[in-house]
Amino acid sequence: MPPILYIVIPCYNEQEVLPVTAPMFLEKINSLSEKGKISSESRILFVNDGSKDKTWEIISELSKQDCHYIGISQSRNRGHQNAVLAGLMEAKDRCDITISIDCDGQDDINAMDQMVDEYLGGCEIVYGVRSSRETDTFFKRFTAQSFYKFLSAMGAEVIYNHADYRLISARALKELANFKEVNLFLRGMVPLVGFKSTSVSYARAERIAGESHYPFKKMVGLAMDGITSLSVKPLRLITSFGVIVALLSFIGVIWAIVTALRGNAVAGWASMTCIVCFVSGVQLICLGIIGEYIGKIYMETKARPRYIISERTWEEEK
Ligand code: UDP
Ligand code: MG
Repeated sequence: MPPILYIVIPCYNEQEVLPVTAPMFLEKINSLSEKGKISSESRILFVNDGSKDKTWEIISELSKQDCHYIGISQSRNRGHQNAVLAGLMEAKDRCDITISIDCDGQDDINAMDQMVDEYLGGCEIVYGVRSSRETDTFFKRFTAQSFYKFLSAMGAEVIYNHADYRLISARALKELANFKEVNLFLRGMVPLVGFKSTSVSYARAERIAGESHYPFKKMVGLAMDGITSLSVKPLRLITSFGVIVALLSFIGVIWAIVTALRGNAVAGWASMTCIVCFVSGVQLICLGIIGEYIGKIYMETKARPRYIISERTWEEEK
């Protein structure tokens, strides 16, 4: 029996792209099932992430046209990571493998063949890795690369140039479901699940239509979430930095005493001001970083639901 595949696709205000990319996904499912690699029971699961345009209408319409299209709708916009998780959790009990992919056609769907082959060869998780970023703008490429470098410098292990295009088996998903954190950073969490895994590379294309929903501000937010939910290294850096500043101050104190004893103490207004400004700046940064973690703890203790599904394109059995 070939495995049942669910392709999980988060969609936020994608009315321009969906009509173009949806048939491409359907074609892929059909060709894979014709080759006998996946079951004909496979589905394309759209997750509408509280879109404000006609995205959900398009998804409902598609689901009436072909039984391979199904969809769920989140009660409001919760962000890409939560939308992907909602789809994966919805799919995990109905299928053998899931592949999550963006709906804008940027990730090469032909890499799915290789992903499924790797699964059939025994891998539970297959990461899609971008081989080049030539089609991205210089700014996007630069910020994205800095993002990965910064993450790994801060102790958050992620796979370089891997976004959220990946195959996960239902077995691995059932383990992922036990990771209860509310602050989601799937790229960092999935490797922690373990199991045999591998990567396949693909060339990243340009967005087929519409605009990116990941402006610089959201990237910074994602990087902060990634670091603070995967590592406590920044807190350690603060401690080391504190030690260095304390040592320097100690030298400064000795210098001040020696100067005073020699009797050449002059009104050191400039140096005092510099030191006060510097140290208070450092303290504020440190407080900010600690505050970031306390904020995370606060959100985690609330244990709010990570997604709320308001609608489905099919009838739920009671
Ligand atoms: N997306 C989402 N919720 C959001 C923002 C984005 O579900 O709040 C989806 C979006 O529809 C797309 C994917 O996440 O399928 C990636 O977004 P986008 O292509 O805008 O990001 P980029 O590829 O530019 O990083
Ligand atoms: Mg995109």
